[in-house]
Amino acid sequence: MTKSHILGSSLPELETLVVSLGEPAFRARQIHNWMFRNLETDFAKMTNLPKPLQEKLEAAATCSVLKVKATQVSTDGTTKWVFETHDGHFFETVLIPTEDRRSICVSSQIGCAMGCTFCRTATMGFIRNLTLGEILEQAHWVSRHVKEMDGGRVSNAIFMGMGEPLLNLENVARACEILNSQEGFGIAKDKITVSTSGVVPKILEWAVRAPDFKLAISLNGSNDTVRSALMPINRRYNIETLLETADEYIRLSGQKLTFEYILIQGKTCTPEAARELKRIASHRHCKINLIPLNRGNPDMQPPSDDEIAEFERILAQGDFQVLRRRPRGPDIYAACGQLATEQKKVA
Ligand code: SAH
Ligand code: SF4
Repeated sequence: MTKSHILGSSLPELETLVVSLGEPAFRARQIHNWMFRNLETDFAKMTNLPKPLQEKLEAAATCSVLKVKATQVSTDGTTKWVFETHDGHFFETVLIPTEDRRSICVSSQIGCAMGCTFCRTATMGFIRNLTLGEILEQAHWVSRHVKEMDGGRVSNAIFMGMGEPLLNLENVARACEILNSQEGFGIAKDKITVSTSGVVPKILEWAVRAPDFKLAISLNGSNDTVRSALMPINRRYNIETLLETADEYIRLSGQKLTFEYILIQGKTCTPEAARELKRIASHRHCKINLIPLNRGNPDMQPPSDDEIAEFERILAQGDFQVLRRRPRGPDIYAACGQLATEQKKVA
């Protein structure tokens, strides 16, 4: 029998489970508290549950299906975990600590089908969607680590690990709800961000399904020639269509949108591109995150500091906010676009 993974179960679902095991419904709340207040995954350690219930739970359910295969810590404190799934695949999760934040970079898929030419995850191809439980287990694991480290909590969650989150939309939406819930991980709605490569119909679906969370669109190219060469999805949904959709998203959700923009020497980081990007962002309810290229594809280089400074100077004339992301954990291949693992263990 496959055990049900209850980390993503709602209280009513847990109640149904305990009742089906011949136990009173109130036990569900106790199990839930153990999982989220105490971050416990071992039924045997849920000491206020009667032993027979612990044993029945052990046989029927689980709160943990992932194995940690490796942990790497960067010189800047960024930590990356490689998880192994029950079916022998690997994927990664990153904790990015700063003075006042504990951000977790969550994966939504194993590999990615989108084929962006600058991204290492693309080289894995698409393997499968992560389940709701597998998505939440990343946050659970990192929360435990943060609690042991300094008694703190995860403060921010960004779906910028492996995969295209909007192609696993329902699991990602439910995961966001539990990440946010006071009975779950208690992360504020505006500290939960989903990043998409620009899957147009899914952006509109997201605007209706989960309008309260933050959305980032990876623009990365300021015209169709450049963007199509970097991101195959642009041949399906070009920049004009994407921007119309972005506007519709802003209207439907009432949220400010983030455009992510990767800086690649000679391709996306030119004065002309800066002017195009300025035109795109102007008069839109948006901000821009600049991400200097992290190394992966040997044919692409990050720009020099001077090139970035010139690019930022042009953008600074716009009426929108611009932030530059500092690469975190590049020495352990944990920075944006650097996540990739071997495909499957040899049996
Ligand atoms: N698939 C989603 C989310 C994961 S990628 C998306 O594409 O938005 C998260 C971010 O990392 C995206 O903005 C992507 O453009 C960026 N990225 C990918 N590869 C990168 C690289 N080599 N250097 C810098 N940023 C990269
Ligand atoms: Fe997939 Fe995002 Fe990487 Fe593109 S950048 S291949 S969408 S993970």
